[in-house]
Amino acid sequence: MQKTIISVQNLVKRYGDFEAVKGISFDVYEGEIFGLLGPNGAGKSTTLEIIETLRPKTSGSIVVNGINLDEAPNDIKKIIGVQLQSSGYYPNLNLTELIELFAGLYNRSVNALELLDTVNLRDKAKNKYKELSGGQKQRFSIATTLINDPSIIFLDEPTTGLDPQARRNLWDLILDIRKKGTTVIITTHYMDEAEILCDRVAIVDAGRIIALNTPDQLIDELVATGFERPKEVKKANLEDVFIHITGKALREE
Ligand code: ADP
Ligand code: MG
Repeated sequence: MQKTIISVQNLVKRYGDFEAVKGISFDVYEGEIFGLLGPNGAGKSTTLEIIETLRPKTSGSIVVNGINLDEAPNDIKKIIGVQLQSSGYYPNLNLTELIELFAGLYNRSVNALELLDTVNLRDKAKNKYKELSGGQKQRFSIATTLINDPSIIFLDEPTTGLDPQARRNLWDLILDIRKKGTTVIITTHYMDEAEILCDRVAIVDAGRIIALNTPDQLIDELVATGFERPKEVKKANLEDVFIHITGKALREE
């Protein structure tokens, strides 16, 4: 039996007259990677930010690790890790200074170098945030989600805009974090990524969940309807060609 770590019931979010989230319900299990998929404007970020206690909901109930969001939002904050938008970083501080700054906000002491090691950025410890490549910035922002040793981390499109090598590198990092027992909620527009990373996915469209299952089950259900891909699929795709000829090594360092 899976233990539920996040329970969302009938969540509604209105911005003025516009209903962005139209009564969605889902559970996230402890230790899983749960994906929220859906076109732009579906309500994914709104849903995440409400669970993260960063945005007020209109109605519905949210319980995170037994804590009711209406009763003790600050207790939820203590056990989650949230990726900041990059504009939230002081561009002129180096990575060690930024980690120490965040640790101070959490009232924690952390070994900055050890933390940078987990995201493969130890050799950038004295570099400023603005000097990092796109992939390095994403890895750094994931490191900042781990400062308070959270039970759950939230990643909103962590791989958008990355090159194929950096994207794969981030997959390994996310899988490592899950292996240590952390629950991960992620949004992505890359279905290959969701298929590789996510134990279960919810597909959200226009504020409603229209499917929720393991990627494998969702694919089997589609195939069972008689669906077939229109063309014979080749044994490789262009991304395979790209990775084969450029290698898997990260290029940014
Ligand atoms: P997603 O992350 O799935 O792309 P969002 O949750 O960001 O979707 O947005 C869902 C809908 O809510 C969109 O139509 C968006 O324009 C609208 N929206 C998001 N934030 C606000 C806001 N602060 N005020 C008004 N409308 C908003
Ligand atoms: Mg979004």
